[in-house]
Amino acid sequence: MASSNVNNAVAAANLDEAVGFALPARSARGRLVRLGPLLDDVLSAHDYPAPIARILSEALVLAALLGATLKEAGGQLTLQAQTEAGIIDLLVCDYKGGEIRGYVRFDAQRLADEPLPSLFALFGKGYLAITFDQAVTRERYQGIVPLEGDSFAEAAQHFFSQSEQVPSLVRLAVNDTGHVAGGILIQHLAEGEEGRERLRTRLDHPEWEHVRLLAETIRANELFDQDLPLENLLWRLFHDEEEVQLLSSVPLSKGCRCTFEYVRDVIARFGAEERGQMVDDEGFISVDCEFCSRVFPIRLADLEDGAGDGA
Ligand SMILES: [Zn+2]
Repeated sequence: MASSNVNNAVAAANLDEAVGFALPARSARGRLVRLGPLLDDVLSAHDYPAPIARILSEALVLAALLGATLKEAGGQLTLQAQTEAGIIDLLVCDYKGGEIRGYVRFDAQRLADEPLPSLFALFGKGYLAITFDQAVTRERYQGIVPLEGDSFAEAAQHFFSQSEQVPSLVRLAVNDTGHVAGGILIQHLAEGEEGRERLRTRLDHPEWEHVRLLAETIRANELFDQDLPLENLLWRLFHDEEEVQLLSSVPLSKGCRCTFEYVRDVIARFGAEERGQMVDDEGFISVDCEFCSRVFPIRLADLEDGAGDGA
């Protein structure tokens, strides 16, 4: 590998950053993500027990890995896990323009009974829906994969390999303190961007096999080691390759798009009787955003004026 191809612009720890890379001679392309303060930011809005915080951290890394592949700046990526009889009832994460958010709804009592839950205990017969919304074309694409196996990463890998027929490797890792998490997504691109074949046989293309074997040597602690710049991690994995290109890097932050107006509109759609049941003694309906826990006090009187319904 020519080291001149690797620039030094990437910050040492790469916290809250997605870094793209390519192995042109192998038709492979990928992303590395490492989250730090962003995790604390998202998790501090909630009081999640460790297993819930961990799975949400993995999902946030996955959202960053997938979101960073969106071609349009205004596009959105949403991950939603729906479950049947799992401890977790709902897990949602989304990514838009480098901003990530997420939350989990779960049964605290069942988790207390099973403090070290498996993926199956968490999600039961669960599914992960991955939705790409393109901003300009307004195209929406959704793929749904079963949440099977040992990890979220496996489900994501299934999404690409089975639904998309793109050979892919996904790894997600969270450190024991829960303050740093990281992940890698690497994919094989069939030769010729246009009219490329999507054949099952591509999944064992010899070039991809080579890349996959190298990428599989990555260890969890390398993904979240703050002292290991992502650039050095790439070097470790692919130093014998002809060329490793560092592509654009995207800074990541916690972002919530909840607004007073949005919450007000939602409440306005309820009937007068339902609103009457929600209102407190001071005449406010308090609604909190499930993502960021921000509370929006909506004054019932304002709502009734605005909605113009005297009922
Ligand atoms: Zn919010």
